[in-house]
Amino acid sequence: MVRFIAAVILAFGLAACQAEDPPAVSLSTQNVNDTRIAKTLFGAVPVASSQPSQPLGGYARGCQAGAEQLAETGPTWQAMRLSRNRNWAQPETLDFVRDLSRFAATQDGWNGLYIGDMSQPRGGPMLTGHRSHQTGLDIDVWMLPPDRLDLTTQEREDISSISMRRSAGAFTNDRWSPQHEAIVRAAASDPRVARIFIFPGAKVAMCNSATGDRSWLNKVRPWWGHHYHFHVRLNCTQGDAGCTNQAPPPPGDGCADAQGWVDRILNPPPPDPNAPPPTPRRELTMANLPGQCLAVLNAN
Ligand SMILES: [Zn+2]
Repeated sequence: MVRFIAAVILAFGLAACQAEDPPAVSLSTQNVNDTRIAKTLFGAVPVASSQPSQPLGGYARGCQAGAEQLAETGPTWQAMRLSRNRNWAQPETLDFVRDLSRFAATQDGWNGLYIGDMSQPRGGPMLTGHRSHQTGLDIDVWMLPPDRLDLTTQEREDISSISMRRSAGAFTNDRWSPQHEAIVRAAASDPRVARIFIFPGAKVAMCNSATGDRSWLNKVRPWWGHHYHFHVRLNCTQGDAGCTNQAPPPPGDGCADAQGWVDRILNPPPPDPNAPPPTPRRELTMANLPGQCLAVLNAN
C-alpha cells in the first residue's frame, strides 16, 4: 500500500506532463461505439504490438504500433523508473535519444542523459501522469546531470531528478547551467523535433543568454511543470499517414510570450468572476482514438 501511494505521489509530482495538442478532428469509423475507457486497456498491455512501426493519431489522442523498447542502459543514457514500463517509443524516437544523449555526454559534468517517461508499449492514454506521450514521439529528459550510468534498477526508482526553478517557475535557480541550455538548444535545433516544453523561467533565461542564431528558441515553449524534466516532442516522420502533427509554433522566438508567462506568475491576474466553471476532463474512450488503435490493442 505504501508503495502504491508512493507511486501515485511520484506520478503526479514528477511527471505531470500535461502539454497537450488540440483534439484530433478525425474520428474513428471502426470503433465509434466503443465506450471502453482507453487508459485502462492501454495501461494493461505489457509489450509492444508485432506490427510495422507507426505512430497513430495525435500526441494526446492516439497510440503506437510496433514500438521498440529503449535499452535500459546505453553508452550515454539510462532509462529511469523502469517499473513504469514507459520506455517504449517509435524507432526514430530511440534514434533521437541516442543522438541527443551522445551530445549531452560531451558536456562538462554530464555523462549522458537520464531518460524519463516516453510511452507505454502500445502508447495510448495512461492511468497516471500524462495527457500526451501517446504516440511514441514524446520524451521526458531529466534535468539531473548524470554523473553515473551504472545505476541499479532500484537506484533508478529511488533517485529523484532535481528542480531547476525558483519563484514558482518565474526564474531558474542556481542548478540551471550553460550545459542545460546547450542540451536544450541541441534538441531544439534538431529537425526531427517539433517542440520542447520547459518552465517559463528557463525559456526566458535562454532568451536572455542565447547568442548567434536564435531560431531554435521558436520550438522551446513555456509550460506548467517541466522543471524536473524537459519534454521533447518529435514530428511525425514523413510517410506516417496516420500520424497527426500539431500546428507549428507561431513564428518568432516566442520570448515576449514567455515573458508574459513569467509576469503572470509574479503578478497573477485577479480571478475573473464571470469565468465559467472548469469543465471536468472526460476520459478518452476507444471511440475517441483513431480506428487503427483498436487493431493495435488487439494485435499480438
Ligand atoms: Zn512529458
